Amino acid sequence: MRVLKFGGTSVADASALRQVLPIIQQQSAIHKKLVVVLSATSGTTDSLLRVARAAGDRDEETVQGMLEELARRHYWVVDDLIDSGEERLAIRATIDSLIQSLTEYCHGLSLLGECTKQSLDEVASYGERLSTTIVASACRAAGINAQWLDARTVVATDDNYQHGTVNMARTADNCLAHLLPLLSEFDVVITQGFIASAPDGTTTTLGRGGSDYSAAILGAACNASAIDIYTDVSGVLTADPRIVEVAQPIPVLGFFMMREMALYGAKVLHPDTIAPAVEAEIPVRVLNTFEANNTGTTITASGGGSNVTAITGLPLCMRVEAPLIQLADVLRRHRFEVVYQEASLTGTSCVVRLASTIQEGDVHAALAGIDATAFLCGFIVVCSEQTLSQPSLSKAVSALDGTSGVRISTFSHGRSLAFCVLPNDYRTSVSLLHSALVGSALR
Ligand code: ADP
Ligand code: ASP
Ligand code: MG
Repeated sequence: MRVLKFGGTSVADASALRQVLPIIQQQSAIHKKLVVVLSATSGTTDSLLRVARAAGDRDEETVQGMLEELARRHYWVVDDLIDSGEERLAIRATIDSLIQSLTEYCHGLSLLGECTKQSLDEVASYGERLSTTIVASACRAAGINAQWLDARTVVATDDNYQHGTVNMARTADNCLAHLLPLLSEFDVVITQGFIASAPDGTTTTLGRGGSDYSAAILGAACNASAIDIYTDVSGVLTADPRIVEVAQPIPVLGFFMMREMALYGAKVLHPDTIAPAVEAEIPVRVLNTFEANNTGTTITASGGGSNVTAITGLPLCMRVEAPLIQLADVLRRHRFEVVYQEASLTGTSCVVRLASTIQEGDVHAALAGIDATAFLCGFIVVCSEQTLSQPSLSKAVSALDGTSGVRISTFSHGRSLAFCVLPNDYRTSVSLLHSALVGSALR
């Protein structure tokens, strides 16, 4: 049995789905049984979270406009993709009832005038529920023996809404009870990534980008032979292709380096994806939906063995320096996401990742009254499978000569090197490091 996961761009519209259906068809012919995990269509989760917040703010006009747009977008996909009039009507009716229940839920939020984390998860879940409904119908219309499954009956978490912690034992039991029986009856089970359920049955989610993680959880729980993550690039690349055009796919990559790349900004995989797959020794492949012949990246326990290096990073962070005890206290109280921390006798410095929920002003406010300095920065990490050699370290440091780059440290395992740069120098610095450390190896 295999798990295939398709991300938001792969299910974005009818033309993308025309690439997805033959992949499902071919893979099901080869491997007999497939679990297909899908994201919401691209941009939909962002829209749904905005809808939920607007509902909590009682901004009914925005809610109505956005829900209409959401429905329209999904109808377009159906009309463009499904030829049979009968099948089209049936799936339109399912979409109607999903939009209807979402509208009623949002109306409830408006009446209450509040939007909790639990409500955000409930509203966000509609994205994956809509995309899987469409793809399951399209599969059946294409003659694939496919069945839709609500992932919330299988993936079990605690009640930490927006970032549920998965209960693997309960999830494995649920797979035995619900998923495996379906797989013995159908060739393909289509289910949602990202969404799960709390012990009381309410909807939770696994954090943004969590569909990759869902695929790994289900793969581990069902003992899959491989987990294939289909996306819009040809594997894990040596840098973010939106910054470094010449970034190249890494053919074989170790679990450890992949996790590090994901933690430090390589959005291509959710960082938690790797853990269940490592434990179950299941290889994870990252493949391109739009280039079916590309072999992508295979992620394995031992990795490529060769000297694989990649540049990754977080464009917007804050570097904070403060006395140890005070800084530790601030970090404990404010739950900032600290991506790097270094202590010395004279003080402590750390790098805090900024996000829509934690902005520059929040960090300054948290540091008020403390003898601290804090400034905006980009955080760049040179990740490697092997200990970085002295010549590589020197090349990296001299690559950033003339930029604002400050080398912070090699990480304790010696395989990664981190830099802080001013945000305006972030993209240039990533490119410079790539051409110094990776580009030359590619030529
Ligand atoms: P999906 O919707 O399929 O889950 P994501 O948008 O989450 O896809 O991740 C794929 C994107 O990750 C790519 O389009 C690419 O722009 C970005 N990305 C950032 N860093 C890397 C990297 N090192 N290798 C590959 N892709 C990367
Ligand atoms: N749809 C969710 C998100 O946008 C999960 C995912 O795409 O992986 O975060
Ligand atoms: Mg993703």
